[in-house]
Amino acid sequence: MASRIEQLIRAEIRSLSSYHVPDSTGMIKLDAMENPYTWPESIKSEWLELLAEVAVNRYPDAGCQQLEAITRQAMYVPDHLGVMFGNGSDELIQIICMALADNRRTHSRTSNTILGLEPGFIMYRMVAAFVGMDYAGVPLTTDFALQLDLTLATMQQTKPAVIFIAYPNNPTGNLFDEQMLIQIIEQAPGLIVIDEAYQPFAQKTFLDKIAQYEHLLVMRTVSKMGLAGLRLGYLVGHFAWINEFNKLRLPYNINTLTQACAGFALRHMDELNHQAQLIRAARSTLYADLQAIQGLTVYPSAANFILFRTLQNRANAIHAALCKQKILIKNLSHANTLLQDCLRVTVSTPIENDAFLAALRVAMVL
Ligand SMILES: *Cc1c(COP(=O)(O)O)cnc(C)c1O
Repeated sequence: MASRIEQLIRAEIRSLSSYHVPDSTGMIKLDAMENPYTWPESIKSEWLELLAEVAVNRYPDAGCQQLEAITRQAMYVPDHLGVMFGNGSDELIQIICMALADNRRTHSRTSNTILGLEPGFIMYRMVAAFVGMDYAGVPLTTDFALQLDLTLATMQQTKPAVIFIAYPNNPTGNLFDEQMLIQIIEQAPGLIVIDEAYQPFAQKTFLDKIAQYEHLLVMRTVSKMGLAGLRLGYLVGHFAWINEFNKLRLPYNINTLTQACAGFALRHMDELNHQAQLIRAARSTLYADLQAIQGLTVYPSAANFILFRTLQNRANAIHAALCKQKILIKNLSHANTLLQDCLRVTVSTPIENDAFLAALRVAMVL
């Protein structure tokens, strides 16, 4: 069997390891940027009434028509732009790249390359391997700002079919300079996707720039705003692009329960906005509390997580000591050379943030 696997499975797939999700049973979970809040009882009972009416014996609405109408309204998507839903924005990244992947391309305007920034969201690089595209990662500065000249030079050299930029960036949390991003958009030889997964916490968007730049797409998700379990992302762009990507979407990629629940939640945007506001306020408090701890470098964040650097070679021990105290955060110290000694914590409720801080103070002196 081993030789058949070697013959059949592409080398770049064999060398991958599948996405690892650590066991978090019994822990305070601050590793995955989830919203800690559930819904008030009144909204919950209304939701359960709606669920009782959902016809799971039928296939879903393949076009997600109701969900699209509600999303357009709740998220201020203009009528002249197209919307496509994915099973999480992860699936949208995959669909975009499946449409572009072509190692036989003959024209010289673009190559079979995805360009991303490093450190950045890991899925862009993973999907490149899935679909057989090359990945070019442009390093950020040591404080995670864009290196504009290097980025533009790498674009000229590698001619990427698509550029993915998370805004704010994950795992660093910062917003890149808007004027630099405009220059990158203007000089992009192919498509450019601005990934706004953390828009509820940053309150900044490139949605209003799409009219002006026909090769610009904006991607969002409901995961970080409190609906991670539903798996729903959406892509906004000119209809001509969205129509092409729609051909690659499996017919029923958004299941009936997700369509019903997301539609319901988006009709209660006030509650979701209120929760985002609580998290933004808790972020300021957590940031100040982390900064007050000696031996940490804390990076400013426009997202619902905070990246911080420990003293040299202390990140592993501190992460382990937090785990022992039943606090799960993300250890990024080996993810990228720029992230040496770095840990990332999700902003949660004031109670969970304080539990994390108390455990961290213990872990720092061990
Ligand atoms: C979390 C995250 C996503 C993935 O979102 P899903 O909709 O849950 O697949 C996409 N982009 C960035 C930058 C993220 O941090």
